[in-house]
Amino acid sequence: VHSAAERVLAGLDPEQRSAVTAPAGPVCILAGAGTGKTRAVTSRIAHRALTGDIAGRHVLAVTFTARAAAEMRSRLGVLGVAGVQARTFHAAALRQVRYFAPRLLAGRAMPELLDSKVRVVTLAAAKVGLRADRAAARDLAGEIEWAKSSLVEPGEYVVAAAKALRDTPYEPARVAEVFDAYERLKRGNGVIDFEDMLRAAVWGIEEHPDVAEQVRNQYRHFVVDEYQDVNPLQQRLLEAWLGGRDDLTVVGDASQTIYSFTGATSSYLVDFPRHHRGATVVRLVRDYRSTPQVVGLANAVIAQARGAEARLRLELHGQRPPGPEPELRIFTDEPAEANAVAARCRALVAGGTPAREIAVLFRTNAQSEAYEKALTEAEVPYVLQGAERFFERPEVRQAMIALRAATRSVPGETPLRAAVVEGLAAVGWAPDAPPAGGAARERWEALAALVQLAEEYAATAEVLPIGEAAAVERPRGLADFTEELARRAAQQHVPTVEGVTLASLHSAKGLEWDAVFLVGLAEGTLPTTYAKTPEQVEEERRLLYVGITRAREWLWLSYAAARSPGGRARRPSRFLPQLDRSGGGERAGAGPVRRAERRRPQVVSCRICGATLLAGADRKLGRCPTCPSDLDEELYERLREWRQRVAGAQKVPAYVVFTDAT
Ligand code: ATP
Ligand code: MG
Repeated sequence: VHSAAERVLAGLDPEQRSAVTAPAGPVCILAGAGTGKTRAVTSRIAHRALTGDIAGRHVLAVTFTARAAAEMRSRLGVLGVAGVQARTFHAAALRQVRYFAPRLLAGRAMPELLDSKVRVVTLAAAKVGLRADRAAARDLAGEIEWAKSSLVEPGEYVVAAAKALRDTPYEPARVAEVFDAYERLKRGNGVIDFEDMLRAAVWGIEEHPDVAEQVRNQYRHFVVDEYQDVNPLQQRLLEAWLGGRDDLTVVGDASQTIYSFTGATSSYLVDFPRHHRGATVVRLVRDYRSTPQVVGLANAVIAQARGAEARLRLELHGQRPPGPEPELRIFTDEPAEANAVAARCRALVAGGTPAREIAVLFRTNAQSEAYEKALTEAEVPYVLQGAERFFERPEVRQAMIALRAATRSVPGETPLRAAVVEGLAAVGWAPDAPPAGGAARERWEALAALVQLAEEYAATAEVLPIGEAAAVERPRGLADFTEELARRAAQQHVPTVEGVTLASLHSAKGLEWDAVFLVGLAEGTLPTTYAKTPEQVEEERRLLYVGITRAREWLWLSYAAARSPGGRARRPSRFLPQLDRSGGGERAGAGPVRRAERRRPQVVSCRICGATLLAGADRKLGRCPTCPSDLDEELYERLREWRQRVAGAQKVPAYVVFTDAT
């Protein structure tokens, strides 16, 4: 037993080891991207379980995405540790609520989970006399999510929104009315949303001593990964689970806070050592994930951060051998950008990189379409992750409604696959009748994906969260599956196949790939035009940092000077660090730079601030994108000198620049 525990320690550095072997009690790992936080925390669970200090089944490990949870479970499995509950907050809450529902609801049916707020919000807005289009309804839904995650009730919204400097889509009082109407509508229809589910989990524990006792007896040791993005509602649930105990390990990086628009705050992480006297605090700085080139670029991007987290900033030290230079590629328009990325993916795959080791990351889901098209044309398989599109498809929505209806008509003991096939028959789907092609074929395949999902779902062994295994063990039925679908729809998971990952930056957190393409790095996209306050702009910068630090080896950054051929000119993202111009400095003479120089006649840099200008596009703009337009000559001169001093003092990161790459 102990040699297995020793093997766990053997794969760690001294700081990680100190986190792993810290005594029971509060532990906080504060460290940058790729430093092995997740590895350390997983090893801590494994080590404690293998030395007999704790039992795996008493551990609740909260991760940010279902994919991260699956990865943690599989890693623990490899280390020989079974029974650990690795789940997202949502999944853990859902399990708990469902388990206790029969007792707490006294036989009443558990309310159905809303798979999309936006629809109900549109209705609620209409009820208070607002005609909200889809974009407005989305904004309102976002406000409601923020409020509920921040433990703000409709009656408290106006004051809370003012305090938090919310950029509200309507007058705050109007938003509060919609919020109130939304809550009533839900109650009237017996449905709950995801925040309600977390609240129900909190309520179950806080109001029912017997529930509290049972839950706390089950969960005795807690781990929270990505703790910098916890919101007050999740924190409250965590505290309810803990019930005053403190066997809690939290892990996070304030520079990777990217969900504050939904109420998340890094303050729980930052203040953890103060709030938990005697906590073991561990800092990690060695980056095991990425090449020094990628690490250098990540450091340069985050060095510019101005947020409150800046004082906690930890410079990363790359541990891996040098790799290829990150590249910045500039294209005339988005289709050209997408085609070049697809061609590059194809070449990588042809060269032996598995498609699942490649990711194309973008700021908004709307950007994915161009890449889907380009990858399809290049015949590169891909998986769309973090996009709502699969569950937004009308046929999938219809199918989900049909499946829900079938939970009432299909006998309970029907095997899951057969139940799903029967449910889908109601929307005209037949397992053995795939249409030849076109839209009908696409529709058929989307529904086939649901059947496949059901098969996978039925096959994964049920690990019980609470109570004695034998007393609740039962095969997964159609009702469980429809709930799982609603959960995935809300969390935006799609069925997986082997392929290049297309994902939003938000959903890429905690993950890593050999090759990463960060696309669409233009002003208005990253940062998005919706980022108006300085805090919002800082969050966008952190998103870029998260994106860069996903790459192990190859990193391509790109943007297109216009959306469509001949379209309006756009500026490069203000977050792109000063480019390596002139071929001078530490990279003088390096082969790639010389090659790049020959090929980038169009790139010039601003003589004042050093920002990269794309000659053609910026001539249209008429001035430097980053310099204030009202500077006089003298100030210009002073800025220029200052700029040179700063650039000289800190290593200027380099990437090789190509324009209109072929
Ligand atoms: P993020 O902030 O992105 O979540 P992280 O700090 O959680 O990153 P991990 O995902 O745990 O980092 O680790 C990054 C990579 O480095 C993984 O591939 C991991 O296996 C590897 N790694 C971590 N620690 C070590 C180590 N001591 N020796 C070798 N490789 C390591
Ligand atoms: Mg991690």
